[in-house]
Amino acid sequence: MMKAYLYLLILFVLTFLFSCTMKKESVSIMLPKITLKDEQQEIFLQKKILIYEMISATKELHQISWPILKNNVDICKKNGSYSFGVLYASKEDLPSQDAKFYKKILNKNINAKYFTKYNVDSFPLVVSVAKNSPAFKANILEGDIILLINDTSTLGFRKKLKKFALESSKLKLTILRNQEVLEREVVGTNICNYNVQAIPSPAPNAFADGEKVFITLAAIKLARTKDELAFLIGHELAHNIFHYMYDKGSEAYNFAINYTDSPKIKSFSSFFLYSSQSKEIEADLKGVEIAFKGGYSLDNVNDYWRRLSVFNPEMISSSSFIYKSNALRAIMISKTLRKLKNSNEKK
Ligand SMILES: [Zn+2]
Repeated sequence: MMKAYLYLLILFVLTFLFSCTMKKESVSIMLPKITLKDEQQEIFLQKKILIYEMISATKELHQISWPILKNNVDICKKNGSYSFGVLYASKEDLPSQDAKFYKKILNKNINAKYFTKYNVDSFPLVVSVAKNSPAFKANILEGDIILLINDTSTLGFRKKLKKFALESSKLKLTILRNQEVLEREVVGTNICNYNVQAIPSPAPNAFADGEKVFITLAAIKLARTKDELAFLIGHELAHNIFHYMYDKGSEAYNFAINYTDSPKIKSFSSFFLYSSQSKEIEADLKGVEIAFKGGYSLDNVNDYWRRLSVFNPEMISSSSFIYKSNALRAIMISKTLRKLKNSNEKK
């Protein structure tokens, strides 16, 4: 949405680097002794922070997006894949060089006997359960460890989950919770099958690639209310629903800790090729309807644009080839919302 912002940021970083290297006087420096172990410890710490940030952003997006995806099922393509309203972290989600961190961070309190008994080196972990979702009703809780899925091993977890969610609305989970092994049956429901994920980036932005919606960590941090994020999600979902043909989505591939997942290249380029001002206006207006239908009143939603304008003053009043100015977007959104609320009151 805000490409210009990214360029500004790159420019800023380059200028900063350049000005740092241009200082004339030479300073004698003593490099501190750094061992490989020091470095590895610090890398582990930073990866741990990254993984926890991804989980907390995923949770926030999941709580906001699940009711939106559920209440808009009538305008989405049907593919028969069920949603259980639960998101997981799994070792396979991390890039291979980080796989060794998974157990240390997210499986750390599990008794060694379970790894032997179930013949695996890690277990998937429940990171988010959407309120009032099937998993919520079946008493699945955040922090639950998945020992078995439909009585089978969790090896190849996501592939299995995708298959099971297509085959049946019923899913059996064997769970480890506080040293207790529990069995739960979850009865899935139909929702819009688009994954809404967090993506690391210092620029507040959001993307849709037909299959998923990505909201940057910067956008999540810039937003101050659920309504603001609900609108961003609504806008990107409008692109997926009305501007793309993809219909193979599955909750099984909603990643929480996979910080390398990004909009698909093919669709990403087509996004720029085919996005036009009329599509952006449509996404804004339909996005309002989608988020409103998801149960968000969207009061003060335009505060997001106003805050964003502080970072990009040129966007306050200038429209680009693709986007209307932030001022015009805010007015369009307000008026659409007012019309929507009026017609809802008349019903
Ligand atoms: Zn857009």
